[in-house]
Amino acid sequence: MSISKKLHARSESKCELCASDEDLIVYEVPPTSKGNEDDSILACSNCIHQIENPDAMIVNHWRCLNDSMWSEITAVQVVAWRMLTRLKAEGWPQDLLDMLYLDEESLEWAKATGEGVEEDEHKIVHRDVNGVVLQAGDSVVLIKDLKVKGSSLIAKQGTAVRRISLDRDNAEYIEGKVGPTQIVIITKYVKKI
Ligand SMILES: [Zn+2]
Repeated sequence: MSISKKLHARSESKCELCASDEDLIVYEVPPTSKGNEDDSILACSNCIHQIENPDAMIVNHWRCLNDSMWSEITAVQVVAWRMLTRLKAEGWPQDLLDMLYLDEESLEWAKATGEGVEEDEHKIVHRDVNGVVLQAGDSVVLIKDLKVKGSSLIAKQGTAVRRISLDRDNAEYIEGKVGPTQIVIITKYVKKI
């Protein structure tokens, strides 16, 4: 039986990602495909086009992964992981990723094309004194008196700073307003509230 026939039988002639039955093609999941059915999925040309062209991604199309990520076929899980990783900034794909369990070997395969790697390496995470992750828009309280650079102002311990923003280049700094004054604050002197 040809690989195409095997995949049609496995998938009941549906895209293994979005369940479309149009324009189905054998997609060899890179980079290690040996051209056998375990390393390949049957997918529609629409899905494959978006996999191969990150700029062409239609976010809502990939809601289909809600169902297909639960496939028992590792190659499908791997592609689901890659697409969810690519889209994780949207929020809901991150929630699905958190539920998608891949064993070590499969995860290595999933990461092999470099999806998501760049982001993780450069990602700057801001944490408060207790190690709690801070995000733009959070409110914090100062845990000690801070002298505000370039002014005579002292921001008192216990002062709440609302709607902080994050220094994109440095995990140690956030900014926020104390009274009318925008100040830079070192993350280890704040606690999230
Ligand atoms: Zn599809």
